[in-house]
Amino acid sequence: MVGVIDIVPRARRLAQELLFPAAGQVDAAGQVPAGHLDALAAAGLYGLTGPVHAGGLGADRTTVAAVVEELAAGDLSAAFVWLQHLGVVSAVAAGPAALRGDLLADLCAGRWRAGVALQAATRPGPAAVRVRRESDELVLDGDVPWVTGWGHIDLVLVAGRDESDERVLFVLVDAVAGPTMTVRPQRMVAVTASATVELGLRGHRVPAARLTGAVPLAELRAGDAAGLRPNGSLALGLVVRCARLLGSSPLDADLAAVRVRLDTAPPEELAAARAAAAALAHRAAGLLVAATGSRAVLAGADAERTAREALFLLVFGSRPAIRAALVAELGG
Ligand SMILES: Cc1cc2nc3c(=O)[nH]c(=O)nc-3n(C[C@H](O)[C@H](O)[C@H](O)COP(=O)(O)OP(=O)(O)OC[C@H]3O[C@@H](n4cnc5c(N)ncnc54)[C@H](O)[C@@H]3O)c2cc1C
Repeated sequence: MVGVIDIVPRARRLAQELLFPAAGQVDAAGQVPAGHLDALAAAGLYGLTGPVHAGGLGADRTTVAAVVEELAAGDLSAAFVWLQHLGVVSAVAAGPAALRGDLLADLCAGRWRAGVALQAATRPGPAAVRVRRESDELVLDGDVPWVTGWGHIDLVLVAGRDESDERVLFVLVDAVAGPTMTVRPQRMVAVTASATVELGLRGHRVPAARLTGAVPLAELRAGDAAGLRPNGSLALGLVVRCARLLGSSPLDADLAAVRVRLDTAPPEELAAARAAAAALAHRAAGLLVAATGSRAVLAGADAERTAREALFLLVFGSRPAIRAALVAELGG
């Protein structure tokens, strides 16, 4: 039986024995094999944050951070696709009883897999996605520039603002393209296998029972800084990979220091801690390239893939305060 006690070593084993050896080929093919995500599900990782009564592992924040690090060290594309799912498990666990009953156990087991389309409605400025209610249906309109995991997910949690512009509605949508929901693959130079698409919604209708929750925009904004910690583990994972490939080096101490900073920062200092993690991943990737030598620029080398992934981590999940701190950290 899958338990939380040994979930970190189990994730490390999967990352080292399955994900990392294949990561170069996965990146070149531009697709995470379904079998890799099935292996994460079989290890209980789709239910990492889910409640135990629904078959989840109920892992605490430290355990979640350590697992994200290990998987990202193995293969950032696979880790990135999987990570989106955890937010949906939390949303459904906190959602209406009927949705919990219908979906939570399947989400925890990874029989149903999910992604998110959140930033288009929560970032500053006009909402790029709107949701209105028409009798017993919700109608979604707008464009979401980034949705990761398409083709690997059954559901996508879409955030949209209501007519008042002051509330954000979170709606579970079947991840099936059609006339009212179109997808266009994003062509990227890093996490090429993350199946990231642009989503277009044109009067897309879903049953109102698919609403997981509605939160005032002001409340979301006020709580945003406190939620910045988890994505920092993607950068730490990249540093872990570099440190393992390089062998013992001063990077080990830098990694430990940035990890402590992320773990102990109060919300108002998390943006700077995230910037420090992204900057360290960037430096570690540069170090790996330099230490590898000319072979690092051959397509398919671990060093060149890691350097491209460090580029992605300079911008992914950013916020104005992260960007400002990162620009300063990099000498701008
Ligand atoms: C490859 C890739 C895959 C991605 N996959 C997903 C995905 O699956 N689902 C998803 O929802 N997003 C996804 N994103 C979006 C990601 O979260 C954004 O990259 C991030 O919000 C910053 O993007 P940006 O700098 O382009 O700014 P934008 O997202 O265009 O936002 C504009 C500005 O608002 C700031 N901002 C953004 N969100 C907030 C917020 N909540 N509060 C305050 N300020 C904010 C940004 O820092 C930026 O300064 C993905 C991005 C990339 C590059």
